[in-house]
Amino acid sequence: MELITTRIKGMEDVVPSEVHKWQTVESVAADVAENYGFREIRIPTFENTELFVRSVGETTDVVQKEMFTVMGRESKFTLRPEGTAGTIRAVLQNGLLNEALPQKVFYILSCFRHEKPQAGRLWEFHQFGAEMAGSASPAADAEMISMANSVIEKLGLKDIELHINSIGCPHCRAEYYKKLREFFEPNKDKLCPTCQSRLEKNPMRILDCKSEICKEIGKDAPLMIDYLCDECKEHFETLKKYLDEMGIKYSIDPKIVRGLDYYTKTVFEFITTSIGAQGTVCGGGRYDGLIEEMGGNPTPALGFAMGLERLIMTMEKQGCEFISPRECDIYIGSMGDAAGIKAASLVKALRDEGYRAEWDVMGRGVKAQMKYANKIGSAFSMILGDNELAEGKAKLKNMKSGEETEIALDSSFIDNFANIHTADMLASEL
Ligand code: ATP
Ligand code: MG
Repeated sequence: MELITTRIKGMEDVVPSEVHKWQTVESVAADVAENYGFREIRIPTFENTELFVRSVGETTDVVQKEMFTVMGRESKFTLRPEGTAGTIRAVLQNGLLNEALPQKVFYILSCFRHEKPQAGRLWEFHQFGAEMAGSASPAADAEMISMANSVIEKLGLKDIELHINSIGCPHCRAEYYKKLREFFEPNKDKLCPTCQSRLEKNPMRILDCKSEICKEIGKDAPLMIDYLCDECKEHFETLKKYLDEMGIKYSIDPKIVRGLDYYTKTVFEFITTSIGAQGTVCGGGRYDGLIEEMGGNPTPALGFAMGLERLIMTMEKQGCEFISPRECDIYIGSMGDAAGIKAASLVKALRDEGYRAEWDVMGRGVKAQMKYANKIGSAFSMILGDNELAEGKAKLKNMKSGEETEIALDSSFIDNFANIHTADMLASEL
């Protein structure tokens, strides 16, 4: 039975009483993205495994350890571990780069990574992400960082630090890789087996390894930022000027290398200390080589992704406000068959006008019906019986104040209810 009644570790349900938190984050993120001129894109949940191996990089933890790969009838597919690869694939396949540039898209989707489940680290998690293709200018980097920053501000989050770094381009990285290999060579045998094989192929990945030994050995490793070529250096300097001018605070963290291979030049993270060890709420950067690597015309691009679970956890910790769940506007109780039918028709008319209205579908007595109306926190209630039907009017009760108003059950009902409801809303806002 346990297999049926217990959800898989690392996966989460969102119960109805929590869903408004998700709606808050999703609507704020989409709003801000649209203000910045981004359009929503929706992509498939799984793709050919090769897409992720090629774009995320075969020496990354994501590809080597964290992918969920499923067997189709003939080939292997992988549940997306992140949103960029699939989004860029879709941008290319649908010819979006032939439209006006820069091409700007955003997405809200689930991702899958086989990691050790813990607070803020799940097998299935959700990202809000955005990608911009076509601009090589640091202005685009400033634009992306500013947008992520706006989402964080609009959610009401405090004390989120922005860390930025530059990890150069293939041109200046060659020299740096040489220095890194020299640095690690004397301790080569002590590195974890994964990093031993990374030393030749992609030594910068060692700096992102989670193993304590590799972290210790890499502590004083040379930093990419000290080896930037003139172009990368200038790009980074100009970005800093934009951020200064826009009043966006940041610190330079030469240790950020990011967990995905496609990054070049600017990389950044937004970090909070409110939720413990898994404090990176957003990660992003420039990936000028990715589109060409995926078979498109060489096109500079960049993006970021935020973890929605971590954002919500931080909002809860910091007491940020969420949009309120929608409550019931009116409950129409009834006694007897004829009154039940009248209640059903009034409720239908109210719903058609956009009210959340409810009536008894349980066959309960009036007392139990009112108990239910209380439980669901209905703003108003009304009870219909033979008397009310005969007289064509009933008492509309304000459930909070207890105040009762007589209301006609004829065609004026909706308008009259609307007036009373609006007056009550205005009064409670004062
Ligand atoms: P971390 O260093 O925490 O593993 P990452 O560098 O692997 O993060 P990215 O690939 O940059 O993460 O993904 C962007 C964001 O998605 C992260 O900043 C984080 O908020 C969220 N995220 C990543 N992996 C998970 C996960 N397993 N569970 C929940 N959220 C995650
Ligand atoms: Mg990770």
